[in-house]
Amino acid sequence: MTPRLRWLAAVGVLLALAIVARVVLLGNDGSRIHEFSGITMGTTYTVKMVTDPLESYRVQDTVQALLDAVDHLMSTYDSTSQLSRFNRHPATTPFPVSRQTLDVLTVARSVSERSGGAFDVTVAPLVNAWGFGPSRRPPTAPSEAELADLAHRVGYQSLTIDSAQGTLIKANPGIAVDLSAIAKGYAVDRVTAALESLGIVSFLVEVGGELKARGRKSDGAAWSVGIELPDSDVRTAYRAVPLADMAIATSGDYRSFYETNGVRYAHIIDPRTLKPARHAGASVSVMHSEAVVADAWATALSVLGPEEGFALAEQERLAALFLIRSGDGFETRETSLFQQLVRSSAPQ
Ligand code: AMP
Ligand code: MG
Repeated sequence: MTPRLRWLAAVGVLLALAIVARVVLLGNDGSRIHEFSGITMGTTYTVKMVTDPLESYRVQDTVQALLDAVDHLMSTYDSTSQLSRFNRHPATTPFPVSRQTLDVLTVARSVSERSGGAFDVTVAPLVNAWGFGPSRRPPTAPSEAELADLAHRVGYQSLTIDSAQGTLIKANPGIAVDLSAIAKGYAVDRVTAALESLGIVSFLVEVGGELKARGRKSDGAAWSVGIELPDSDVRTAYRAVPLADMAIATSGDYRSFYETNGVRYAHIIDPRTLKPARHAGASVSVMHSEAVVADAWATALSVLGPEEGFALAEQERLAALFLIRSGDGFETRETSLFQQLVRSSAPQ
């Protein structure tokens, strides 16, 4: 099955599940954890919370509306979204965008600068050229000539964020933005804020694999999340990580990729080579208080790989866990802050 077919099949199953996806789980201590899930942003979301059941219906409507609103601003798969309209804007005149989009782009800009351009939301034309974008191009490698042609359309410095005026400006009309590497994390932060304003104090939010936990379960334990085994065929937790008032985002080459002539191409593009990143790193998880930051850095470190990425993560004092292909299995590398956070959140 191609990655796209596999994705469609998964969404089909999840659509069916979404109809009945409101369940009550029993925590280890017998307390009730209410869970609901749904579909948004081309993926699924789940919220688990310790609250009374009547609340959970009202909360789901709020969460769904909020996520759909973020999608309608930032999706490149929805041709009517604000971002898609900006991408089609054929001029270098200022284009008004929402405060939310400006906030996301401001975080993106900071991670671009700190990662030496490894993170770059202007990779949109390359993502399409390599068959991973919304243009539905078949998954085949583009020619060197085509890549050279696209090079002038890529570079975060070619996008000006004018927060005071609330506009974006392209340095050339070919610039297009892809927020897929950061918007899910942003959505997780928005859901967290919404749940808090509804007075819910203990919950775990997940959107497309990016997570954030607040509070503790009623037995006093931190929420625990599984880091997936980077294997495209099975969905197995490789390791459990306690999450105490933290977000965690994971980026990897194992879910969205194709193979041509024995070469594996994954959806993380290295803006320096204009090609999918190629190294032994299979996944990177980043823990941070803000999911939007964790999401952007997980992608940035995935571009850089386990050597350069790990060194930068230590230098930037990031909490990162790298899963690296080694022989038939994987080895792990954790930054010192990651080890420290896991230690301090684990049960005493
Ligand atoms: P994530 O799963 O958060 O790592 O996001 C991966 C998605 O981000 C890809 O499918 C692309 O749409 C986009 N992307 C790919 N390479 C980059 C990059 N170097 N910087 C920013 N976004 C990227
Ligand atoms: Mg990301």
